[in-house]
Amino acid sequence: MLEFAASQKINRKLIVQGYIFTKHSENNDGKSLWRCEKRTCTARVHIKDDEIIHEVATHNHTLTHGQVEVERARSGMKRRGETTEETTRPIVKNELMNVPISAAHILPKRTTLSRDVRRHR
Ligand SMILES: [Zn+2]
Repeated sequence: MLEFAASQKINRKLIVQGYIFTKHSENNDGKSLWRCEKRTCTARVHIKDDEIIHEVATHNHTLTHGQVEVERARSGMKRRGETTEETTRPIVKNELMNVPISAAHILPKRTTLSRDVRRHR
């Protein structure tokens, strides 16, 4: 089962073994091509029906520890922004509790996070 970190409205992100991919293109037949989030990296994943059908799994960089947790928290914020009436501040605060201290240094600024949430309302 593939894991997506995403808001409903825009750019779902695909998480494969801790690496994050963004959608590059999609064919009429439902096949989609995902590229590693790092633009300089050549890793690719092709998926169809929520399954990986082809994979170029060689990354030219190491995993950023905590990146996946940060990504999950950010998408959680956006989703709550879309689907609940909660105000922005508690949404951000609650989702940040899911981010381990060890990943705190790669979090965007609070103001950026709040803006993300507001954009999704
Ligand atoms: Zn990569």
